[in-house]
Amino acid sequence: MTPEARAADLLAWYDRHRRALPWRAKAGEQPDPYRVWASEIMLQQTTVTAVKPYYERFMARFPTVRALAEAPSEEVMQAWAGLGYYSRARNLHACAKAVMENHRGRFPDTEDGLRALPGIGAYTAGAVAAIAFDRPAAAVDGNVERVMSRLFAIDDALPGARPLIRERVLALLPQDRSGDFAQALMDLGATICTPRNPACGLCPWREPCRARIAGTQESFPRKAPKKAGAMRYGAAFVLTRQDGAILLRTRPAKGLLGGMAEVPTSEWRADYEIDGAAQDAPLPLSWTQLAEPVRHVFTHFPLELTVFTARVPEPTKAPAGMRFTPLANLSAEPLPSLMLKVVERAGLYSSKTR
Ligand code: SF4
Repeated sequence: MTPEARAADLLAWYDRHRRALPWRAKAGEQPDPYRVWASEIMLQQTTVTAVKPYYERFMARFPTVRALAEAPSEEVMQAWAGLGYYSRARNLHACAKAVMENHRGRFPDTEDGLRALPGIGAYTAGAVAAIAFDRPAAAVDGNVERVMSRLFAIDDALPGARPLIRERVLALLPQDRSGDFAQALMDLGATICTPRNPACGLCPWREPCRARIAGTQESFPRKAPKKAGAMRYGAAFVLTRQDGAILLRTRPAKGLLGGMAEVPTSEWRADYEIDGAAQDAPLPLSWTQLAEPVRHVFTHFPLELTVFTARVPEPTKAPAGMRFTPLANLSAEPLPSLMLKVVERAGLYSSKTR
């Protein structure tokens, strides 16, 4: 499935199921950057349900960025009371003043411009740039981390996986409607792809979702290891057939990456000897060892896989328990991100085109 098709499916779902939120512009309406920004600041560390009544009162009292900037700080603090984290209120007030003094009352319309304002970090800058200005920006919060790590079965642990997740979001962004896309991802995470019992049957991404295919939804996102284990080593064998198929197998249902697809590999052990890897190959062939191994961090150990490649003629049959899959169908296979790195290293796949 192409990134465009995925984005289109998500947007079509959003058009039918978008949440009506007090700070959200109605379909076809131009969003007000002030309202978008204020809501995003309030939603930092506070739930949607808790924010709603405060937001309404706050907007009634300070309907514009000018009204907020000109208000005495005690009044702003009073309107904020109950939302906690008063440093956010102080930053909110300072930001409104900066917008009035340095930007003639208009919020900057780029991520960089927004980030230069008080109290605006990477997430808020991305969210406001996308939602208020339709900029192609990624707004990656906990909900989005969960959805994306499940969709692509990203088994790199958080927080290290964040740059990869961000990259994946950017690769899916549609040509237009960046703001709707950002809000659709947030809504999907909040209402369908929930931490427990995600409603995959109702999800617009149920077909391509790798975690759903493998039945491992709730194991994502992976969390940072409490204590790193010893480095393990192993060999991965990328075997292609002349007709454009690759040799795959399915991992046992239980255990690490249970039920997911992989190219055949050796065992992964701290004392694995790469010189003897030929014994672990699925077929006795002349294998080419690639110079650069693939490195990956699981929640409880880091792994280094040396990749071997070989090619066989068309009549070759897969060994018992394995299968040849057309490379064109690779994206339909529940390959974890480790295996995507392996096939990418072998030059058979590019994460940029997914
Ligand atoms: S199919 Fe399920 S796990 Fe995958 S993104 Fe949708 S709700 Fe989340």
